[in-house]
Amino acid sequence: MNSIQLKPKKEESLLRFHPWIFSGAIAQKPANLEEGEVVRVLSHSGDCLGVGHFQIGSIAVRMLSFDNRPIDNAFWKERIGKAYEMRRTTLLDHLADNNIYRLVHGEGDMLPGLIIDVYNHTAVVQAHSVGMHKQREDIAKALVEVLGNNVENVYYKSETTLPYKANLHEKEGFLIGNTNENVAKENGLQFHIDWLKGQKTGFFVDQRENRHLLEKYAKGRRVLNLFCYTGGFSVYALRGGAEYVCSIDSSEKAIELTRQNVALNFPDTSRHEAYAEDAFKYLQQNAADYDLMVLDPPAFAKHRDALRNAAKGYIRLNAAAFRQIRPGGIVFTFSCSQAVSKEQFRLFVFTAAQQSGRKVRILHQLHQPIDHPINIYHPEGEYLKGLVLFVE
Ligand code: SAH
Repeated sequence: MNSIQLKPKKEESLLRFHPWIFSGAIAQKPANLEEGEVVRVLSHSGDCLGVGHFQIGSIAVRMLSFDNRPIDNAFWKERIGKAYEMRRTTLLDHLADNNIYRLVHGEGDMLPGLIIDVYNHTAVVQAHSVGMHKQREDIAKALVEVLGNNVENVYYKSETTLPYKANLHEKEGFLIGNTNENVAKENGLQFHIDWLKGQKTGFFVDQRENRHLLEKYAKGRRVLNLFCYTGGFSVYALRGGAEYVCSIDSSEKAIELTRQNVALNFPDTSRHEAYAEDAFKYLQQNAADYDLMVLDPPAFAKHRDALRNAAKGYIRLNAAAFRQIRPGGIVFTFSCSQAVSKEQFRLFVFTAAQQSGRKVRILHQLHQPIDHPINIYHPEGEYLKGLVLFVE
């Protein structure tokens, strides 16, 4: 195994178990080091601090272990085993009629660069680092060894998540097994999972608990689900007894998926409509008739430098919703931008409320669910936040 050496004092964040080493912290590395390789990390005085995946870029090493150990089948089985055990005891054992969950959440499971979502008997593996890409076969093998009969197929989906410059020519497809069966269940509701062409791994697993909460408020209400993607919130609102649900997404493909998912659960319903349209435009022109709204836009700030524009986007969106919603209405509003903190998001929503002149009260403060854990040593892993608001 090759080794890299850090500059003096640059071991401090590693001693606090932060899993990233920035390129500026490296004093020396071998000339033949390949991108994606597992490297041993040494302090300036030569102590071994652990092992990680090397990558070209600002994050130069993603730590896999703070021990000096090989990254072999035993390692993958141990880490995936721990991730599974945590989900089993905190989530799967308590959730009836559910076979959709995130099994591995990157740094939150001490596997930086790796995402694994499970949909019934199929796991979808997504690499966000070159190292995880190179080890995808080992990961898939360990995954089926750990999960036994629970997972039969492993699909690899990393086309949009790997650094373009690494030139990996990654191929998407099944690493293990094969299936066309793509219906899975969340809280007893069925969803078609589009792992071939869908966003992320095919579904936004992170909104499970927030959708469930919306269901409780839906009875008798007219619901507007903006940025609906696969229609998750819409299907829950229908089960919760909404009088009418309208789903909006700018993508035709998303609207098609939403219609399919509604039909799968409520084949004959006349309570739902879906339109491919810009959410901002719809809010301005047609939204005066709703008393429950969901605002779940894509990350407006992908990086810190985009924060100012993101602020404008969140304020404009929320202010438009507050202006339109009926008195006594409820707004579920979210941000999945990692670069926007909970405090900043709340300030954006406050500004929007103030601009609209409506009286707004916070009923719930929402976040990512337990299968998307935040490693306490890596606060950057916190990304999803939401507010449920009562608008007088
Ligand atoms: N609420 C969804 C996830 C939303 S993802 C769920 O629970 O699964 C964000 C969605 O916003 C994407 O489907 C994207 O197509 C859509 N989108 C992006 N910009 C938009 C716009 N201006 N108007 C409407 N939809 C938009």
